Amino acid sequence: MITLVSDTETKPTPAMRKAMAEAEVGDEQRGEDPTVNRLLERVKELLGKEAALWLPTGTMCNLVAIRAHTRPGDLVIADHMAHIVRAESGGPAVASGVQIEQIETKAGTYTAGDLCDALDRANTAAYPYCAIPRLVCVEQTHNFCGGTVWTIGQLAEVASAAHEKGLAVHMDGARLLNAACASGTSAAEFCAHVDSVWIDFTKGLGAPIGAVLAGTKDFIEEARRQKHVFAGAMRQAGVVAAACLYALDHHVDRLKEDHENARLLAAGLAAIEGVDLMHPEPQSNIVFFDVRRAGMCNRDFTRAMLLQGVKIGYVRRMIRAVTHLDVTAQDIEFAVAAARRVLADPQRFAGTEGKLPLHEPSY
Ligand SMILES: *Cc1c(COP(=O)(O)O)cnc(C)c1O
Repeated sequence: MITLVSDTETKPTPAMRKAMAEAEVGDEQRGEDPTVNRLLERVKELLGKEAALWLPTGTMCNLVAIRAHTRPGDLVIADHMAHIVRAESGGPAVASGVQIEQIETKAGTYTAGDLCDALDRANTAAYPYCAIPRLVCVEQTHNFCGGTVWTIGQLAEVASAAHEKGLAVHMDGARLLNAACASGTSAAEFCAHVDSVWIDFTKGLGAPIGAVLAGTKDFIEEARRQKHVFAGAMRQAGVVAAACLYALDHHVDRLKEDHENARLLAAGLAAIEGVDLMHPEPQSNIVFFDVRRAGMCNRDFTRAMLLQGVKIGYVRRMIRAVTHLDVTAQDIEFAVAAARRVLADPQRFAGTEGKLPLHEPSY
């Protein structure tokens, strides 16, 4: 089975498991796990930030960061397809009591002008009626907009507009290292414009657990307290942090292969009559497409692909494929051939409904 459902589906490699088995460990809650501490040093350096905090998931990084930046009733600005808006179970509302003003975008990126418009819409000059704007969020790369990358210029413009207005900037950098690989701009250069940022180790980096949030010393001190509030403090977490260190050493440079495979997949699909791609040339490792013009509904297509040995995602009425370290160029050729077979005779696959499990995506 070839799985293109998500880059979260990677399994730890034997060498990664060996690093985990051999990890030196201590009490993470008290800051005494040497492997976690080594990872935090590495991430601080990689992102050019003063301090860093180990957390179990990216979702918890967003939760903790928003809580640390805001007070209940504050306004957070984000694009309308942001992960914090669409895939975190209302977490920012539950945990921080914030209101999110959404900027409608095509690619997940927006401009300083869009930010100003959003603040005007939110009526933020109208004391005491308005929610107090406090935080601007950006997502790098943008998941639901197809792995798009903020250029350094776009990011600098929005961040400086936000800072001029006294707002903090938070980057959901689940796939920041994919953005660095795709753009040639280093992670630290991107991070220089934002006040807080995190990277996920369970996406393209292929670790089983872990994310690291980074920012100023003061910010991380508050975030560490919030991590305790959300019951995220751990004990001998070095066992998993070792996998993250291993990923930094061995799985960063290879991200370009995932991007090549995504382009290969997009090109193969584009050559099939009736397939429409969100981005004919995907910028990173995410490929969204639509086969309705080929006479098949997208959900049926994912079921039919499963019969052909390819697990592929169905996300917001579109089909989503994500490349990762367990997918080779040969697998991509196999998947394209499978798509071609399915779409050559859509009727053959009609009526599979209910007979096959549908693969719910993991983001
Ligand atoms: C996956 C993802 C998250 C959540 O990370 P988890 O580690 O799965 O909790 C947040 N934001 C984006 C953009 C993501 O792709």
